[in-house]
Amino acid sequence: MQLETIIGLEIHVQLKTKSKMFCRCDNSGEDKPANTTVCPVCMGHPGVLPVANKQAIEWSVMSALAINCNIPNFSKFDRKNYFYPDLPKGYQISQYDQPIGLGGFLIIDTSKGQKKIKITRLHMEEDAAKLQHSADDKWSFVDYNRSSTPLMEIVTEPDMRTPEEAKIFMQELRLIMRHLDVSSADMEKGHLRCDANISLRPVGQDELFPKTEIKNLNSFKAVERALEYEIKRQIKLWEAYRAPDTLATRGWNDAKQITEEQRTKEEAKDYRYFPEPDLPPLTFTPEYIEEMKTKIPELPQAKRLRFIDMYGIAPADAKIIVEDKELANYTEQVISELKGWLISLEGVEGTEEEIWANNKQKLMKLVTGWLINKLGALLNENNLGVRDCKITPENFAELIAMIYQNKLNSATAQTLLTEMFKTGIDPSHALEEGGLKQISDEKEIENIINKIIAANPDPVADYKRGKVQAIKFLVGQVMRATKGKVDPQKVEEILKNKL
Ligand SMILES: [Zn+2]
Repeated sequence: MQLETIIGLEIHVQLKTKSKMFCRCDNSGEDKPANTTVCPVCMGHPGVLPVANKQAIEWSVMSALAINCNIPNFSKFDRKNYFYPDLPKGYQISQYDQPIGLGGFLIIDTSKGQKKIKITRLHMEEDAAKLQHSADDKWSFVDYNRSSTPLMEIVTEPDMRTPEEAKIFMQELRLIMRHLDVSSADMEKGHLRCDANISLRPVGQDELFPKTEIKNLNSFKAVERALEYEIKRQIKLWEAYRAPDTLATRGWNDAKQITEEQRTKEEAKDYRYFPEPDLPPLTFTPEYIEEMKTKIPELPQAKRLRFIDMYGIAPADAKIIVEDKELANYTEQVISELKGWLISLEGVEGTEEEIWANNKQKLMKLVTGWLINKLGALLNENNLGVRDCKITPENFAELIAMIYQNKLNSATAQTLLTEMFKTGIDPSHALEEGGLKQISDEKEIENIINKIIAANPDPVADYKRGKVQAIKFLVGQVMRATKGKVDPQKVEEILKNKL
């Protein structure tokens, strides 16, 4: 039987507001001692009143708009009732039938091309406290610091067909949240969490079969692996005529790389939702929604396309650069410097547009290559982000300009870059101070080459007898004598002429 995979995601994003969702407590409690960022409101004492966090609402509206949701004029909070030791009120304030965002979508770039994933809804809610169990399971501890932390829940339609699509969707969502600057969206820290719903069905059928929800997915890798495992497990059940016939909840065991059965899932009716009487409903005017739209910066998808169209950057490189907002800004500053430099060059004819168009492709190859591979490697080795980098965009652009004009060979350029990276020095000074300036005087180069020929009669004889490899040895000797300050290709050329 030919089966297809149906995947939908439920994602929680923790907002990095200063205070919590419904009280004024510090929202950075995860870094503080347990139960120190708490108050009667977030500990669920009787008689207290919640007040909604204005910033959290604004950011949720911006996030909903960024994933192409409609913002209804009217929205409200509801109580989701259930009992658990991490929930002191006995209910969670959430949104049930009138969420803040409805009917959105995201376009993702998969290995098989672009795909549109529809988004059912985005709603706001508060987080529960954190439970910790002692190793011998005799004790459980509650840390209320996390209680009432603002969360957004994003639910997708069952539009994904492969684990890869689910992973890419999560990665794109993380990038959007970081561009909006509303969440650190770190999966490892639980600031971005994901439950994946999966079911299979025979190809050609439209019906959806009871889904299995996978919890505890703490990394992108876990999302992909857990879904791959679950597909294999469910295929076996289908082949044995035992396809899942009820909703089920399984947890991902990262150590064993398997999913394990958990409790059966509660349905909405079990939560006895009702409108939260202590919070007024929200009304969004068209003016408010317009204002929120103006606060949304350029998003990753648009930025990638612009980098490709405007600068002629290769799609694969654009993807890497836009992955890091700081790197994208840095790249644009470098490009703007280079553009200015190109236009100011003497003896170049044409309009600004023509000059740029004529040089763009070659220059951009240099820029992306040196940024991603060379500077990227230095940043990685030192565990730094581009924001901590001592090389200013102006100096980086100057280095690229020097390489572009063949004033440096790539070995010298690499030495310069390392020096600039260490001290922040500009490339022309580094070149002089480090004695790295290229020897461009032909006479001087010839003198050195003559000396090398005289000192190495055997390899010279070898070369003359047709042993082509011998010339590489001689080039090496010249490079050593000049400490790499000549262009090896030029040396080889002169050597060949002389011999
Ligand atoms: Zn509080």
